[in-house]
Order: sequence, then structure tokens, then C-alpha cells
Amino acid sequence: MSANSLQELYLEQLRDLFDAEQQIIKALPKMIASARSDKLRDALTGHLEITRKQADRVENICQELGEDAKREKCKGMEGVLKEGSDLVGDISNKEVRDAAIIAAAQRVEHYEMAGYGTARTYATLLGYDEAASALEQTLEEEKEADETLSGLAEQLNREALKSERAERKQKEDAKTARGTKSNSRKRVA
Ligand code: FE
Ligand code: ZN
Ligand code: FE
Repeated sequence: MSANSLQELYLEQLRDLFDAEQQIIKALPKMIASARSDKLRDALTGHLEITRKQADRVENICQELGEDAKREKCKGMEGVLKEGSDLVGDISNKEVRDAAIIAAAQRVEHYEMAGYGTARTYATLLGYDEAASALEQTLEEEKEADETLSGLAEQLNREALKSERAERKQKEDAKTARGTKSNSRKRVA
């Protein structure tokens, strides 16, 4: 849709956010399933519940305007989510994978924050006060989710580094052991 007014731009942003939330609702269960940390899984599960409410909230705002919410594809969120699932992919080290999940999820939250900030500002300007406070509420929830993830990253990124180093050491030790073995075999022969 080509928007020629702030009103149209506002509606476009709302529809885009509605689709983004739908995409997140689809993507989160996969992220939850591949997370190792209980705390990370709980945080993502909690945010999935909130996300469902956020989708309803945006849909209601569109309906209040007498408009259908389901009209836009959020190409940005599609890319952000695709990039995230490619990144997490099949990282075998579970701790490193958790760090990647956090990295991907924080990009999602920030992308949403940009959209909700804009939509909230338009709503205020256009005099939709109730919509503005509903959008503000969602914006705050996204910020909270982002902060929770930052807090988890504090601990989990450190664990990833520890685990990755232990894994590397184990491989090196195994290599050394193999080397010693073949050397001794040579000596025997
Ligand atoms: Fe959201
Ligand atoms: Zn978008
Ligand atoms: Fe979110």
C-alpha cells in the first residue's frame, strides 16, 4: 500500500506490526525448543504469552479504526527471524547455542521497539489516545523482554565461553593422547 498521509502511514505500521507479531508467535516455539537454559526457556515462554496479547492489541486498534489488520507482510521481521534461525541453526554446543538464541531474540525485540515507538507517536499525534497508551504498553513490554535477555546474556554468554573452551581443551587432549598412542605404537613396532 502506498501511504499519502500520516493516517495511512499509521495504519500501515499497525498492520506491519500485526504481521510481525504473528511471525514471532510462529517462531518462538522453535527457539524455546532449542534453548538449553531453563531460565532462557522460561523467559521466551513468558514472552510468547505476552506476544499473543500484543497481537490481539494491535488487531483491536485496527478494528477500532474500522480496518482489517491482516494485510501486510512484515518483510523486515521475516528477515530478522530467518537470520536468527540460520544463526542458531545446528550449533552443537548447547551453551553457545543459547548465546546465539539470545542474540537473535534481542534483534527481534529491538526491531519491534522501533515499530511500536513510531506507531505510538503517530497515535498520539492523530489523537488516538487509547491506542497510544496500548501501543506504549506494548513498547514497554518489548523493552522489558530485551532487558530480561540482557540479564540472561550476562550469565549465559559466560557459560558459553567456558563450555566452548572446555570443549576445545577436550579435543586437544584427545588429539595429544592419540598422538602419544601412535608414537608408542611406532616405537613398539
Ligand atoms: Fe511483540
Ligand atoms: Zn516490517
Ligand atoms: Fe517482543
